[in-house]
Amino acid sequence: MIGLMPVKLNYALPKKFALLERLYQCLEEEASRYPFVCEPGCSDCCTVNLLATSAEVRYFLDSLKEQERKALLEKLSPFKGKQRLRPKVTPNEMALFYMSGKEPPADEGFVFEPCPFLKDNLCSIYERRAFVCRTFFSLKKCQQTREAEAPPEFLTLSTVLMQLLEEIDLAGLYGNFLDLLLFFLENEGTPPEEIVIPEELLSNREAPDFAIPLQYERYVRQFLARLYREPVGDKTFKEVLDEIKEGAQVKEALSFLGEAL
Ligand code: SF4
Repeated sequence: MIGLMPVKLNYALPKKFALLERLYQCLEEEASRYPFVCEPGCSDCCTVNLLATSAEVRYFLDSLKEQERKALLEKLSPFKGKQRLRPKVTPNEMALFYMSGKEPPADEGFVFEPCPFLKDNLCSIYERRAFVCRTFFSLKKCQQTREAEAPPEFLTLSTVLMQLLEEIDLAGLYGNFLDLLLFFLENEGTPPEEIVIPEELLSNREAPDFAIPLQYERYVRQFLARLYREPVGDKTFKEVLDEIKEGAQVKEALSFLGEAL
């Protein structure tokens, strides 16, 4: 982990949820422009290796009743500490590495184990699934070719939006979806000052800039420009994002990012 960032787990959650919903909607509209062949029952990409921000996890947990959260903790307990993909750096830290001409450390632990939310080859939390699940698309049937094939500009857009997601969730965390779920479920009711953040969860950071290859710059910037103008309540997406950034007061904390790299 590079440097430290103040973590405020409950910071600006309603605003973050509103931005997530708008982002999910815009991504869905964008994806509908491509001839993707994915359909209900395709689930080869649904594994335990999902990476997400804490805002996405809280967005899902927010939809559950107390009893459902208890049942979920019980269901996920066997997954505690098991091997799965865990990030070494956040998307914005990764972008910083690339911008400094350095190779970021590779994420480790990928395993071929189905996601615990898969039920009869369908996602049981579909409406509240993580962002990364919403980018699982292929132009060809993966079952036939054993790998997904997505347009490179769409892959670039997905990567850039991971950076934006981290920015939306400033003062929050980044990590494996299951680790984040276990962390919040186990700490439910614990006073914030007593919560210990495990080392597999990383602190989110503001985007230094978006890492966009030159050939996709126009496509990605046009998407972002449209997204930023989208209404969120009585404001625009960008205005709400700026409010989150301003309130998180991350400028000072960011200063030692440069030193650490
Ligand atoms: S949460 Fe749903 S969409 Fe995402 S990997 Fe699990 S089953 Fe698949």
